Amino acid sequence: MTSAASTSLDGYEVWFLTGSQHLYGEDVLKQVAAQSQEIVDALNASAAVPVKLVWKPVLTDSDAIRRTALDANSDDSVIGVTAWMHTFSPAKMWIQGLDLLRKPLLHLHTQSNVELPWADIDFDFMNLNQAAHGDREFGYIQSRLGVPRKTVVGHVTNPEVARQVGVWQRAAAGWAAVRSLKLTRFGDNMRNVAVTEGDKTEAELRLGVSVNTWSVNELADAVHTTAESDVDALVAEYERLYEVGPELRPGGARHESLRYSARIEIGLRGFLEANGSAAFTTSFEDLGELRQLPGMAVQRLMAEGYGFGAEGDWKTAILVRAAKVMGAGLPGGASLMEDYTYHLVPGEEKILGAHMLEVCPSLTASKPRVEVHPLGIGGKEDPVRLVFDTDAGAGVVVALSDMRDRFRLVANAVDVVELPAPLPNLPVARALWEPKPDFATSAAAWLTAGAAHHTVLSTQVGIEVFEDFAEMARTELLTIDEGTTIKKFKKELAWNAAYYRLAGGI
Ligand code: MN
Repeated sequence: MTSAASTSLDGYEVWFLTGSQHLYGEDVLKQVAAQSQEIVDALNASAAVPVKLVWKPVLTDSDAIRRTALDANSDDSVIGVTAWMHTFSPAKMWIQGLDLLRKPLLHLHTQSNVELPWADIDFDFMNLNQAAHGDREFGYIQSRLGVPRKTVVGHVTNPEVARQVGVWQRAAAGWAAVRSLKLTRFGDNMRNVAVTEGDKTEAELRLGVSVNTWSVNELADAVHTTAESDVDALVAEYERLYEVGPELRPGGARHESLRYSARIEIGLRGFLEANGSAAFTTSFEDLGELRQLPGMAVQRLMAEGYGFGAEGDWKTAILVRAAKVMGAGLPGGASLMEDYTYHLVPGEEKILGAHMLEVCPSLTASKPRVEVHPLGIGGKEDPVRLVFDTDAGAGVVVALSDMRDRFRLVANAVDVVELPAPLPNLPVARALWEPKPDFATSAAAWLTAGAAHHTVLSTQVGIEVFEDFAEMARTELLTIDEGTTIKKFKKELAWNAAYYRLAGGI
């Protein structure tokens, strides 16, 4: 059985729809079919395109288009459709189908040939190769119907085309994962915190996520009834995968703490699997009979593909799960992150991110250390955690806020950098980054947008994937990147406030 937290994209497909009409006769339609299959083959052969494109027979009338849209809607493995009007496909035949379509749409504006055959071109060629105006007709009807979509322009031999198709597919996979997400909460939000709150009913309608709560003592029961042999096996795995200090090893003074952490991991994984959950939250204020705040267990479950939010933060857990799926198979990782403290030396400004315990080891290719330290809050036993430095590289931090009448995503492009010096006394995993376009603009924009202190940090994907995701989710996204100025950003906020109220209807 595949775990609900799988990040594999193998089971997904994107349907490739080719538009035409009967006007040109059977011979032309055969060429249309053959050429659109070549486009599909070329994209499927590209390493930048992670999800299999499935060619569908050329569409020439309203009935077939409507039926195809309904079939795409009802097939859970179909995460989106890509459409190309190879010839002229009078767009009124697309109205019913596009109106019914509930899957993400990518409009590929391409053509079969690269060069115009200057010496040979005749009107048969013009009739066959007229996406230049067939796609304009299609663009019109999509805009008139208000269909959210991504438009990608160019020949399939241009690597930028395959790259953009791949980015959109990753967003569609993340969207599919969110639409089917069951999120398990243990306990409620940290008392009095505002930004981690949110409307769970609206989340199920807008995002498709089902957010529900279980008593932490049900989890504790599962943790406290794990078999000793399973704990033995997991502890042995820890010793293989990580640097485990002598005090935590078998026979060491703190070995029992490591065994208890393993127990939490086994109990938690089993509980989530039984619920079909691919994301969860914990709350350090509500640990019931649990003896440690789950630390290493949470870190390792995130590394398996689970979304996670600390302190009851289910919205960030959604983002972590989405980022895990979007980044499947790419170098780097994704984790819950929290903006913690700054390096404010002029010209060298940096953000040090971390959390109490729960940072995903997918952020490093190095071997984490297993450590046990007091937590200082919560009044429980010292929790076990993995400690490491996040690998340097480009990344993005994304937050999700509930603005009362809508959800708001805010994304900031960042460069994760090497630590300039070791942090021997910091007992948690950490990441150090420089936000774009610069520290002051980034922080001012982030604060002005009301974006959260909890984020997902992904070093696998960039802002573009989240732009496509937001379009699919019809959810506001504010981006902070090289082009951001506070003056423009504040205007965008004001325009968005009006736009999203109008777009939501009354
Ligand atoms: Mn926190």
